[in-house]
Amino acid sequence: MCSIQEGELLQPKRQPSSSLRDRKCMKCSNEETVVIIRINDAFCKDCFLQYCTHKFRSAFGKSRLIRDKEQVLVAHSGGPASCAMLHLIQEGTSRRAHKKLRFSSVLVFIDDGVFHGLTLVERKARNAQVLKQLISSGLDVHAYAIEQVMSTTSSASLGLPVQAVSADSFEILCSFDSECKQLEALLAATTSDTSRQSLQHVLRQRLLIQVANGMGINKVLLGNSTTSLAVQMMSNVAQGRGAHLLYDMSFADLRSTSVTFVRPMREFTTHEIEHYLLLNQLGTIDVISTGPKGLEGLTSDFVLGLQADFPNTVSTIMRTGEKIGVSHSEIDIDLCCSLCQAPLDTDVGPSSALAATQFSEVVSRGNRQSSRCSSEATECCGQGDGSCQSSTRCELPDLRRSLCYGCRLMCKDLKDTSLLPASVQSNALQVKNRAEMRASIQNFLIEDDDAK
Ligand SMILES: [Zn+2]
Ligand SMILES: [Zn+2]
Repeated sequence: MCSIQEGELLQPKRQPSSSLRDRKCMKCSNEETVVIIRINDAFCKDCFLQYCTHKFRSAFGKSRLIRDKEQVLVAHSGGPASCAMLHLIQEGTSRRAHKKLRFSSVLVFIDDGVFHGLTLVERKARNAQVLKQLISSGLDVHAYAIEQVMSTTSSASLGLPVQAVSADSFEILCSFDSECKQLEALLAATTSDTSRQSLQHVLRQRLLIQVANGMGINKVLLGNSTTSLAVQMMSNVAQGRGAHLLYDMSFADLRSTSVTFVRPMREFTTHEIEHYLLLNQLGTIDVISTGPKGLEGLTSDFVLGLQADFPNTVSTIMRTGEKIGVSHSEIDIDLCCSLCQAPLDTDVGPSSALAATQFSEVVSRGNRQSSRCSSEATECCGQGDGSCQSSTRCELPDLRRSLCYGCRLMCKDLKDTSLLPASVQSNALQVKNRAEMRASIQNFLIEDDDAK
């Protein structure tokens, strides 16, 4: 039962600003406290580092998701959360670790300079900085450029292991000219900053899945912190991706049938991560500022602004998100979005808000796209069934049908959907073909109930 009286919600209690002066460590009563976490818990250096290590390892222990000696990909962006995660993995897998993490890691860095409008020289300089740091970890490092997601070649040949930092390896990393031009064209055709940011997330995720598939690895560790997940959750809901909250925020994201995304940093706030890095004297690579802010940037300002005064903000958003997510017990690959690969959320009945929006879209377009063999389709043979125009490329209505609601909204800001990666087009086409085949043999199928 909710015990909050009307009116109380309007005035949340502002936390008094906490100071370390005259505080003792809540664990060992040491007087040399270095950080206050959660709401008002003071910690000394040793106890804080122990608390971080325990939190990180228990996330793996509780889930029992990763088997002994399993190989996992660790996605590294160069940002603070990635750097802290890498250090925690190194500590956890080292010989001196108490409860040892028993998986082996391959680091993956994706250069997304195209999204930030960086020049080739700027991209090379940044790549050099990040790769130098990654290679010093002693783990296997693989580097990719985000434009490789546009490539039509098989995922196995995408890989570029970086064994040593040399001028050559960066030349290779920045030499996907035709893919780079395709991605730049796609970005130029995207009319809003919000959709551009959303596209960046989706394409990065697709590339990670392709890379993992190519290496035969099925777990990818991401460095999402509590704070970044809370911001993402608010902005995803605002962008029509509410049905996928559970995938976006959970420890194990099972949306893809071949790869599980794991978020071991999801219980760490950025405040904790900053202190972890500081106390371990670890440097990070500067996060690139992306110019104009999309919805995500504005949401971030809003949430961080609230968090500064009300330290419970971020964790409350997270816990709320966990409760309102929709879970999908079994994922049918034909009912997944061709772009973000989450289960489709668009089968919602004729009297839904989505159906109403679609209806008004059709009306406002004057129903021009209802038939592919309309009078506007000049190359039509006159059959009237669309058969004359079948091709390997997916038609817009078919592509839209294969997308989730959030991706449909994103594609509305795209002037030309044929610029999307070839793999998206072929996914959509596959889904359409399988649906057609299923419909044609429907009468001959034996239902599960009859078979029993
Ligand atoms: Zn202590
Ligand atoms: Zn989608």
